[in-house]
Amino acid sequence: NPTANILEVDHLSMRFGGIVAVKDLSFTAKRGDITALIGPNGAGKTTVFNCITGFYKPTTGMIRMIHGDSREFLLERLFDFRISKLAKVARTFQNIRLFAGMTALENLMVAQHNGLMRASGYTFLGLIGSPGFRSAERSAIDRARYWLDRIGLLARADEAAGNLPYGDQRRLEIARAMCSRPALLCLDEPAAGLNAREGEALSELLRLIRNEHDTSILLIEHDMSVVMQISDRIIVLDYGVKISEGTPQMIRDDPKVIAAYLGTD
Ligand code: ATP
Repeated sequence: NPTANILEVDHLSMRFGGIVAVKDLSFTAKRGDITALIGPNGAGKTTVFNCITGFYKPTTGMIRMIHGDSREFLLERLFDFRISKLAKVARTFQNIRLFAGMTALENLMVAQHNGLMRASGYTFLGLIGSPGFRSAERSAIDRARYWLDRIGLLARADEAAGNLPYGDQRRLEIARAMCSRPALLCLDEPAAGLNAREGEALSELLRLIRNEHDTSILLIEHDMSVVMQISDRIIVLDYGVKISEGTPQMIRDDPKVIAAYLGTD
């Protein structure tokens, strides 16, 4: 069902002592959509990501991840490593978290380490010799090279990630997340610090992920040209509360959103 929900956030609240960072928030993201979370600094967007990916246990509320085969996971009950492995949710962070001293290719191989360990049967002999391991390694390399090619870095596969231009590093992080073949990709401000040309390359990459891979995207972003261009649906937070949701056109024209966030320019 192409219009089905992949993520349902239901009455989510997150409190830190006296601060209510997210307050009774409900929203859904549809399978195959790019859904954006926008709002002023401190509105609670990253906190929502931290609840979805198991970094925080929500104070109250439910977060349901629904797969195409109708398997469901209640994310608020799972540890972060199970959320990534079982529920197939991947994320990137506001700050770059690559292994700077490893090559671009190695960064993408590390992301597939779990699959390779499984293929080896978790034994040393399996690691060095088993046919299962060798074919898993082959497809891991192929997948890594596919994503390097998509972000225009195939020729620089053997360069240290830390030496790449900033915009390339940001897209390498997304490529790394895609190597774990997520059903839902959560991106925390991927356009931050990018110039116009790099922002365009990012938008293209996100469209490719949405259109050619079975991955839905949840996007936190302040760059409105990126958000308005690529989002199917936008949810607006202010002080931890949802103040609006709708298509880019609806959000652009909503007086509440203009007053709280977009301004009049
Ligand atoms: P930005 O656009 O600046 O990234 P945001 O919308 O992502 O902002 P959050 O980072 O989720 O906002 O922060 C929401 C509120 O929750 C802020 O008041 C913040 O100080 C608070 N907060 C977030 N994490 C914690 C924490 N671990 N402990 C205490 N307060 C926190």
